[in-house]
Amino acid sequence: MRLPSLSPSTAEAPSDRQRTLWWRTLAAAVALVGLLASSERLLSLAAEHLLEHDSEQTALGYARTITDNVPGLSEMFEQRRLDPATADALRGLREIGDVFRFKLFDRDGNTLLVSDALDRADGLDASGATRLGEHQGFPSPVVESIVLGGRNHIELKDGRGKEGRPPLFSEAYVPLMQGGRLIGAVEVYVDQTARAQRIREAFFQVACIVGVLLLIIGGALVWQWQHRQRERRLAHDRMRYLAQHDVLSGALNRASFHDALQQAAWRHESGGPGFAVLCIDLDRFKEVNDSHGHSAGDAVLREATERLRQVVRHGDVVARLGGDEFAIMQSGVADSADVDRLAQRLVDAMAVPFKIGEHRVVCTASVGAATFGSDANTIEDLLHKADVAMYRAKTSGRGRFSFYDAELDRKLEDRRVLAHDLRAAIDNGSLSLHYQPLFERADQRLIGYEALMRWSHPQRGAIAPSEFIPLAEDTGQIEVLGEWALQRACAEAATWPAPLSVSVNLSAAQFSGDSDLTRVVQTALDASGLSPRRLELEITESLLMNNTESVVNTLSKLSALGVRIAMDDFGTGYSSLAYLWRFPFDKVKIDRAFTIGLNDNRKVELIVRSIISLAHSMGIRVNAEGVETAPQMALLQELGCDELQGFLLGRPVPAHSLRHDGVVSEGPAAATRLPQSLRGLPPALQA
Ligand code: C2E
Ligand code: MG
Ligand code: MG
Repeated sequence: MRLPSLSPSTAEAPSDRQRTLWWRTLAAAVALVGLLASSERLLSLAAEHLLEHDSEQTALGYARTITDNVPGLSEMFEQRRLDPATADALRGLREIGDVFRFKLFDRDGNTLLVSDALDRADGLDASGATRLGEHQGFPSPVVESIVLGGRNHIELKDGRGKEGRPPLFSEAYVPLMQGGRLIGAVEVYVDQTARAQRIREAFFQVACIVGVLLLIIGGALVWQWQHRQRERRLAHDRMRYLAQHDVLSGALNRASFHDALQQAAWRHESGGPGFAVLCIDLDRFKEVNDSHGHSAGDAVLREATERLRQVVRHGDVVARLGGDEFAIMQSGVADSADVDRLAQRLVDAMAVPFKIGEHRVVCTASVGAATFGSDANTIEDLLHKADVAMYRAKTSGRGRFSFYDAELDRKLEDRRVLAHDLRAAIDNGSLSLHYQPLFERADQRLIGYEALMRWSHPQRGAIAPSEFIPLAEDTGQIEVLGEWALQRACAEAATWPAPLSVSVNLSAAQFSGDSDLTRVVQTALDASGLSPRRLELEITESLLMNNTESVVNTLSKLSALGVRIAMDDFGTGYSSLAYLWRFPFDKVKIDRAFTIGLNDNRKVELIVRSIISLAHSMGIRVNAEGVETAPQMALLQELGCDELQGFLLGRPVPAHSLRHDGVVSEGPAAATRLPQSLRGLPPALQA
């Protein structure tokens, strides 16, 4: 199955990622080149600075050497004449270390002497001294700034191609001080070729080391960044997956399924193919969980998802909407036959038993379908209608498929409204209990009443228990209703003369879930003060079909409280007798269906006779429900039935109509003794 592309805005396609990566790499390369260029410029600036500094220091040292070692220096500056001794000394200083030339200036900035000219002996005066140049008045602005401002001035020069000049040299102008007095300035020519070469080599080495370090650090940073990006992308992908999928089965979740449907709806509206939704609910999945444990339940859900995936076609979408509820979006639906075929494949696939460890579990599926466009025009409606169809499949026998049916939908809606009204029924007082008398056969004595719930709906009038009790069970309201009935019945019975008892019907749902039925019963007894011996609880055999052990456990606890337990509607189940030995019931109530057929069908009589005999042999009392005619009653008496109940003896009536001393005030002929009309029966029947 191919999952649909969902929320494309949040997804980054691989080619997009590749492109982004290329752009980033290019940007990083440009940045690196820029960095290298600017660092090269920085390095040459630093080198220049070093060379200038070195030249300045050399020149200053040189100036000190001149002033310290050259005799007649002041005279030379003052008189502008060069003594031979001074000339000799200066000649000796012409080339020291990297210095290869110098010039001397007087305080007015006039060139006094250039070292190259020291060998020339022109303009000698009488004493043999050389006459130096004329006064010109600051011909050199550099010297002027040194002399007036006391600042040094350094220039680096390229000597390549110039005769008598090294490839790189500096001209450093520094003051000449003697005895703390400025006597002039000296321009020192320093050969910087070797030093520049050394600096260059040192810088190159540093650059190499720094480059390698930068490469290592940069590489590590890039690796870490890439790693973090990859992890972030993986986390993002995982989060997106979790947000869109059901973790257990890997199918799409409800929200993503909704998105997929919405996209299909848009495509359909702009001329795209038709599509349908099939809702799938596993039948009796709860029993798998209850009897094999939750991990087995999970395994069934996973296997079910796999089967659904195998059944659908390319372009269809499988989703788990929650619990044991799945849905499929079938794409490319041309007509209902397409849906029908897929639904049949689904039902068949799920009908194969699931293998859980050693066990084989049958967990069929009920499937309901609705088609977009014909059944519904919105996604919400489509889902709702597929759900209604699924419900129909379930109620018509499970393990089958149904299309959406508007009539059923109306009934379901009606049921929903009724369930809503039922929720308010206890509070608004429209629920009540009626009581139907039970008679002892032997002495025709009134022995108690069965409490039967009644709902008088404000608009719809009386609603039968056969309608609202299953509704309360399905909508999870039965526990509240059952608790209320117990409290009400016990409180009422406590006002009756002893030993009249009350029988209260219990629903199977009251035994499951979280409710502690024993506590509920005990509370009702405590609150009313009714003796437990006067309370009887009626259960039906369907209760014992599932979870027998825990039900028997609860029944034992209830029995230990002192209340009696009766099995209601006996004989209507598939294997009534099988349940009789599982718990020591106090009473069985033969279902009305047997009472009806009693006089007309000899076989029914034989069955009833057998039930009574079997129950008696186990020490269990027998009640016959639905006694409507005198012949029925006569025969039941003859068969030895212990208790009688039916319209003939008294209909269910409200509590205020009960008269325990005589006749029930409403309904025909109900009395504490057998009704007058029956007294004329043959003595054998009255016995
Ligand atoms: P059930 O416990 O077997 O109650 C006997 C039903 O048979 C009552 O129907 C009663 O009115 C009816 N009945 C009694 N004698 C005759 C007769 O001679 N002829 C005919 N035709 N019917 C007779 P009802 O009150 O409609 O209750 C139906 C079922 O609803 C009850 O069957 C019981 O299973 C359930 N139910 C009623 N009240 C409660 C309740 O408080 N809690 C629970 N869990 N279920 C209740
Ligand atoms: Mg009953
Ligand atoms: Mg019954």
